[in-house]
Amino acid sequence: MTSQVYYRKWRPSSFSELAGQEHVSTTLRQSVRLGRISHSYLFCGPRGCGKTTTARIIAKAANCLDLQDGDPCNACAVCQSINDGRFMDIIELDAASNRGIDEIRDIRDKVNFAPVQGRRKVYIIDEAHMLTDAASNAFLKTLEEPPEHVIFVLCTTEAHRILPTIISRCQRLDFRRIPSETVFGRLTEIADAEGVAVEPAAMRLIARYASGSLRDAENLLEQLVVSCPDGVTGPQVEQLLGMGSDEAALELVKYLLLGNTTASLSAVNRAAWEGSDLRQLHRQTSDLLRGFMHLQWGSEDAVDLPEHVRAQLKELVGKQPPWRIVHALKVWGAVNMRYDAPSTLPLELAVVEICEESAAPATPQEAPPPPPPAPARRGREPQPPRSAPGPRGPRPDPPPPRARPA
Ligand SMILES: [Zn+2]
Repeated sequence: MTSQVYYRKWRPSSFSELAGQEHVSTTLRQSVRLGRISHSYLFCGPRGCGKTTTARIIAKAANCLDLQDGDPCNACAVCQSINDGRFMDIIELDAASNRGIDEIRDIRDKVNFAPVQGRRKVYIIDEAHMLTDAASNAFLKTLEEPPEHVIFVLCTTEAHRILPTIISRCQRLDFRRIPSETVFGRLTEIADAEGVAVEPAAMRLIARYASGSLRDAENLLEQLVVSCPDGVTGPQVEQLLGMGSDEAALELVKYLLLGNTTASLSAVNRAAWEGSDLRQLHRQTSDLLRGFMHLQWGSEDAVDLPEHVRAQLKELVGKQPPWRIVHALKVWGAVNMRYDAPSTLPLELAVVEICEESAAPATPQEAPPPPPPAPARRGREPQPPRSAPGPRGPRPDPPPPRARPA
């Protein structure tokens, strides 16, 4: 069993073990208790938050020989067979790779056959929004008149891409991102059970980085345990994930909010030279700016940050006009780090836009355009601007646009 990855090995096996989705597990458990399991469910929610796991649990509950107050017993022959992956009446289809009409026709042809081992046959269709239109329409026919012995569970991260006629025939349950405190608790349980040494600070970093996906968090924990056999520390997590420390992002946020262009530009470049992944710096800074906005307007519950970071942000509250944080968040949020990650330029431009606007009068919309900033690169050779003409003179004019066909 030790060769199994954490995510599979520590997968919850009953409703009561499901972390962070109590609203879903309570509803489902109650319907099992009352013997009123639906014929078709639609599980919506972000990746890694327990949709497929819950589908397996409902399959187990529908077939368990010794239900425990609506929860599967995990001891009877059926439960064990499902836990070992040997049960014939759970059919899983990954619609991301089997999205065509042939797979759906196959389901339609076999759906009327009675279950082989259990009472109910359970079809779990993962990434259901990936089915083609033809496949979705064919599936709708099956969903309209499902045989008594069948349960369909459709899982999706993008419910809006599923046919409304399919949605209206399913009982819809919305899964939430799992709070980082819950993820932290689960990681602690796993580390204890595995007997591996992981600093709490390291697990908090993993939990925050996973942004609500328990699967991502568990995979990361495993990766770290393998690569750090003598114990996992906070700095090791920061290094593996390319995260600068909280301090680097916090410093940048302070300078941004104070409107200090020079210090902010230095902070970005220092982080780059110290080897931080700039996408991570961007993300950490976004989280902190968002946290500051919530603190400024007194909505503390929405802030998911360590206590010492929260305390430092609070010290800045009330020292700026309220619009400054909104402006900063908009500019920072619009930075596209996807294609230009190794370059500091996108972040530098955003820094200047935020800080120079902050220096303007209190009605930012009517402020004059900001003056060009002084160059503030540190430790790097001066480089010519990208648009500088080459040694052979300016570029030729672009060709005239082609005439459109009539
Ligand atoms: Zn059982």
